[in-house]
Amino acid sequence: MYEIILERDECTMCGHCVELDEEKFTFDSDDKATLVGSDREDNTDELTVEDASVYEEASDNCTGGCIEVYDEDD
Ligand code: SF4
Repeated sequence: MYEIILERDECTMCGHCVELDEEKFTFDSDDKATLVGSDREDNTDELTVEDASVYEEASDNCTGGCIEVYDEDD
């Protein structure tokens, strides 16, 4: 399993993640990106997933550097 983090304070609203996969990323009412299905604490979204491939690609292309992927098995 993988833990995905999106630090929304750092989001530049560039839209790359949403363009990559609109089922996994969307814009919230404040126009910053959010992880679909995530829990939010201190304006940071957290989500546990089995397949992190799309999130890793999103992280690589995130202009805010605010998407992180952690392998929980490590
Ligand atoms: S790619 Fe990063 S900076 Fe751009 S909208 Fe998504 S989370 Fe925000």
